[in-house]
Amino acid sequence: MTKQTHRAGFVSIVGKPNVGKSTLMNVLVGERLSIITSKAQTTRHRIMGIINGDDFQIVYSDTPGIIKPQYELHKNMMSFVTTSITDADVILFVTDIYEKHDENDVIEKLKKSNVPILLLVNKIDQVKDQKDLEDKVEYWKESLGIENILPISALEKFNTELVLKFILDHLPEHPAFFPKDQLTDKPERFFAAEILREKIFLNYKKEVPYCCEVEIEEFTETEDLIRIRAVIMVERTSQRGIIIGDKGAAIKKVGTQARLDMEKFFQKKVFLEQYVKVEEDWRKKDFHLKRFGYKQD
Ligand code: GDP
Ligand code: MG
Repeated sequence: MTKQTHRAGFVSIVGKPNVGKSTLMNVLVGERLSIITSKAQTTRHRIMGIINGDDFQIVYSDTPGIIKPQYELHKNMMSFVTTSITDADVILFVTDIYEKHDENDVIEKLKKSNVPILLLVNKIDQVKDQKDLEDKVEYWKESLGIENILPISALEKFNTELVLKFILDHLPEHPAFFPKDQLTDKPERFFAAEILREKIFLNYKKEVPYCCEVEIEEFTETEDLIRIRAVIMVERTSQRGIIIGDKGAAIKKVGTQARLDMEKFFQKKVFLEQYVKVEEDWRKKDFHLKRFGYKQD
């Protein structure tokens, strides 16, 4: 039996306001599971949505410069830190059939990029004369020098299946960036935990972060506030001391940094409570590994 390859990557949807990026996004993510709310925003880029298949994961983002979590493979542990900045794997450049040609700034950036670009001429349901479309395609071929141009109507879901096909054809072979099972259910908790985990990686010496696990015990959102209670699990009492630090200074710093990023991410005030719990040898225990999504049943 040949092992099926898994593809995963980041897809940036770029283009001027009003060209139909959000509409297209809704079609692409559609009724599939794992929709991340539009407010989901990492510290460096905004995640518009994630779709998972058995053998792929597409992370849509709406900024061209984006961040990819870096893999830390530890036996069956899938932990990552979100620090390395790389380019998108695929760029969808959305344009409007009757939009004026004023994208010179974007064009210059895209020309320099080595990433596969699919140019979408959207809203073709509005085309009055077929020649308008032909002219537009010709214009883009010349100004961008790319062949991958696809006329679509996001509104009428015309040709949008081909967008997905293009992405899947150009997505690199890679394991999923975000654990699939955790995203279907409570993506907000997942990202809150990720942010706190990132701060732990930034604030403690090499081996300490690997002994920690973060779990979000409470996540309650009201009109103007999100209350988050996070547990940082460590394996030994000595590690607990390190995490907390002198008079609690270390954990306080981590908490403040995490809270500020969470507020950016969720676009709301966050009340973050975090405490440290000793859970001996949690890494060796199947129960915990499953709970944190590192291990499948
Ligand atoms: P964004 O600013 O790029 O995210 O654009 P939106 O997705 O918010 O769309 C802007 C407007 O264009 C909305 O009124 C959409 O309904 C409309 N729109 C988007 N796609 C199409 C399309 O394919 N055809 C038509 N006729 N209108 C569209
Ligand atoms: Mg939009």
